[in-house]
Parts: sequence; C-alpha cells; structure tokens
Amino acid sequence: MTTPQFPLQDQLCGFSRALFSTWLYHRRFNILFDAGEGVASTLYNRVFGIRRVFLSHGHADHIAGLVNLINIRNLGAGDQTAPLKIFYPQNNKLIEYVVDYLSRTQKDLSFGLEWIPLDADQEIVLDDQKSRIFMRTFRTRHSQRQLSLGYNIIEIRRRLKEQYQGLPQREINEMIWSKGKDEVAQEFEKIIFSYGGDSRPIVPEYIKDTLFLCHECTYLSVDDDERNFQQHSFLDEVLETAKKARVETLLLFHTSLRYNLDMLREKIDSAVARINPGCRILVLYGDSIIDTACSLSWKKKLKRERIREKKLEENSD
Ligand SMILES: [Zn+2]
Repeated sequence: MTTPQFPLQDQLCGFSRALFSTWLYHRRFNILFDAGEGVASTLYNRVFGIRRVFLSHGHADHIAGLVNLINIRNLGAGDQTAPLKIFYPQNNKLIEYVVDYLSRTQKDLSFGLEWIPLDADQEIVLDDQKSRIFMRTFRTRHSQRQLSLGYNIIEIRRRLKEQYQGLPQREINEMIWSKGKDEVAQEFEKIIFSYGGDSRPIVPEYIKDTLFLCHECTYLSVDDDERNFQQHSFLDEVLETAKKARVETLLLFHTSLRYNLDMLREKIDSAVARINPGCRILVLYGDSIIDTACSLSWKKKLKRERIREKKLEENSD
C-alpha cells in the first residue's frame, strides 16, 4: 500500500507544456498558480471556485488565460459576486499591461477584483480565522529584467521540544499537566506546498522539507538548451535540488514539446536511479498528472495521447 501524499492528486489539476500554457489549480485552497491559456475553457464553471491567483511571472504562456478567466467570472453561470485577488511580482510590465487592458475593457465587474503586487519574502494569510496557514513568496531565477516569484504555502504546526522527543506518552502528559504545553511543545513552520513557476533551479533552502514541490523541468538534458537562454531547469539539477531540500513529492512540469512520453519515462527512470532523489515523482504532462513509479499511470496517459493524435490527424484530412 502506498502512503497518501499531500496534496491528494484530486486536489490538483492543471495543464503544462513549455511555451504553450501553464496553470495549476489547487482546489483545497482555491488557488490558481499561473493562468496560461485554457484555464477557463478547461475548468468551465469551476472558475468560480478560484479565490486567489498567484502569478510567477509575466510571460504569455503563464498569463494568457487571465482575460478570459475574468470575463467568465463576470458573465458565466456561477457566483458572479465572489471576489478575486490576483497576486503578481511587482513592477512586472507585462502583467501591468494586462491589468491596464482589463481596466479599460471590463469597467463594470460584478465582483471585487484586486491586483496585489508582491516582492520576495512577503506573506499573505490564507486561513483568515486562525492565521495558521499562509503564503510566503520567494525569489526565483528566470528573466533577468523582471522579478519572478515562487510561492510556499506554510502551516504553523506544533511539535515536542527536542529534549522531550522519544519519551513515553504518559510522561509527556504528566509534563504538560505540571509545566504547561508551551514548555513541552513549540511551534514551527512547515512548508506544505511549493510552486516555483519558470526558473533555474530553486535555492534548496527556500523550499526545505516541503511536502510537495512543483518545479519546472523544461529540458531533460543540459545540451537541449541549445539557444543557451539559461532561464530554465533540466532534469538532473531539479532532482538534485529536490534531494538537497528533502522534498517529499516532486511534481515536474513545463516540459518542452520535443519530448514525448516514452522519452520522458526513460530519462526520468535513469536519472532517478543515478541521483536517487528520495522523493515520489509526478509529472504534469499536458492535462494529466502521471505517477512516474506506476506503469499503469504511464500506460493510461499514452493511450489518451494516441487517441488525441489520431483525432487531430483525422480532422486534418
Ligand atoms: Zn517564462
């Protein structure tokens, strides 16, 4: 039996292929990470569930879905009054053009829309009642001219102080009773979800011990970055990063269109055997999340891809 992972896969859905579109919807927190083309036409009326959007940077494949998303939230069949907050890296010209376009074309929105610029190391409370879950931004390395951000969802948890760990429960209970629980336990920050957007490898310290890391993996090999943009990550360094950060589950996304499923599978298998990152590895390939350790998961996706390609061929005849 496999242990349940966080977040459960049915709490996540999205789409990602480099250059075309990237977005990821985390249903538990009603958060959309990036807003590439196709968000609204994939989620349909579930777009009304989105309460916050966090943009990693302003490239078209990460923001092209915003205009339609806001239009549907305004006119579609759902709660048209549900407010929406869109967070983005501050001073990002490309995003500010979209803000400007929307303010000119969507003057009478039925819901409160707020655009909130962010810098690195900023915090946003997610759980209003108890403030025990919040988002913290971190700096990523993508475009030289624009700030790009990654996002950590952090939960405040409690654990026994080091000196009390390993004691029998009865003794711990007695200690809590006599000394109070603050003497016995302390609060700590646990990163439960991390999203990096497009970036060179994320600094492992920023995502230490995260339960779930979404890291881009545009290239399978360093030689494939033939134009040498050095704006993206390749497989080996992503696995090294996950290993250093002691990540529990790694979701690879933003893979280049040049790679098909067979190539991905082969390269991931051999890199994992070589690097031994010590985490579970998933891939968001198109609109599917593949569990790389499960051959059925690959087979299912392969079958769907073949059907899709056949349909495209038939339609082009
Ligand atoms: Zn980009």
